[in-house]
Amino acid sequence: MTELPLTSRARPDRRPHALGEWRALGGYAAVERARAMPPAEVIDMVEAAHLNGRGGAGFPAGRKWRFMPERGTSPGEGPNYLIVNGDEMEPGAFKDRYLLEALPHQVLEGAIITAHATHCDEAIILIRDEYRPGIAAVEHAIHEARDAGLLGGLHVRVHPSAGRYIVGEETALITALEGHRAVPRKRPPFPAQSGLWGRPTTVNNVETISLVPHILDLGAQRFRALSRTEEGGTKLYGVSGRVKRPQLIEAPMGTTARELIERAGGISGDGRLRAFQPGGGASGFLGPEHLDLPLDFGHVAVAGSMFGTGMLIVLDGSACPIGLLARHMRFYARESCGWCTPCREGLPLVSKILDRFEAGQGRRADLDLLHMTADEASPRGRSFCDLMGGAMAPLSSGLRMFAAEFEARLAEGERP
Ligand code: SF4
Repeated sequence: MTELPLTSRARPDRRPHALGEWRALGGYAAVERARAMPPAEVIDMVEAAHLNGRGGAGFPAGRKWRFMPERGTSPGEGPNYLIVNGDEMEPGAFKDRYLLEALPHQVLEGAIITAHATHCDEAIILIRDEYRPGIAAVEHAIHEARDAGLLGGLHVRVHPSAGRYIVGEETALITALEGHRAVPRKRPPFPAQSGLWGRPTTVNNVETISLVPHILDLGAQRFRALSRTEEGGTKLYGVSGRVKRPQLIEAPMGTTARELIERAGGISGDGRLRAFQPGGGASGFLGPEHLDLPLDFGHVAVAGSMFGTGMLIVLDGSACPIGLLARHMRFYARESCGWCTPCREGLPLVSKILDRFEAGQGRRADLDLLHMTADEASPRGRSFCDLMGGAMAPLSSGLRMFAAEFEARLAEGERP
């Protein structure tokens, strides 16, 4: 059980546990342990466990928590907030959905412990609106835990998200919760200084929160040692695209793409790996030479991509990479919040050009424009938030890796 702390207690039918069943499996023992400790000690443990945030950026969770002020020490009145981010919309990502639906008490335990460590009085579990079974499961778990007196003084509620990709960005999420159009905010101030309603706020992803009880149960060192690399614990990897059995796999942090693809039944289609995205739709492509790369935030960054959500999207030799890029760009163009011109205007243009290429109607000038957009818009800081840069990552690497494919499509378009 300790080898796979996140998923080994899940029921085979994926239905959520009733509270009694969850407690019989050891549920809520971690909450008692955490409450017996001062908040700073819980943070020490999470730091020693080397828990990185699993929402995409990989920032160390304990370091983020340390920014939160103690109750009554920040100016003004009102609670400190914890927001559990379940607004999962990244192309290729489906891990939070599983955790919310199958293990809602685990999410809730993690939220209670995190709220204790970060001096929060109120926790909001924000869940993508389409995840109705997840919303129902977490609401039921909250009722059960409240009736059993397990929440202590913590107010917890579920908030269905407005259903836009940008709501997953932590500052846009805060703006949306305040009832405004979901646009990101400038940092500083960081949410720990001034977040929801101007109060100190911590935002953590569902998977990050779900791992927290296991650090308390196992101890920091054992949790950290579950990983094969410096980044502690296990990871809920996803494998989709051209594999025989797309699925979620909990495995040590640092597991390789080769092992994950094998466990997903191997490559489908023509059976040859052409490329893979290691971290969902907004990560640059890696090739077969990276099959044995340990997949964690650090190693994937050194290889020139992003570990992001840890959701692998696999392409075989017969898949059309231009078609995949076109679908990704259609998504990011639709989901742009429209605030910055390069993102608002650039993404629909890129999407239209890729559609033309996919249909064999690309032109040389179009290809030049794709290169120019990727070069100009990729660097951080060219647009307000990371959506534009993230969308450019697969385009930049795709233009390099699939140059022959683009040329072939170009030749089709230029044929009289
Ligand atoms: S980069 Fe795009 S999503 Fe981000 S703030 Fe600008 S317009 Fe909005």
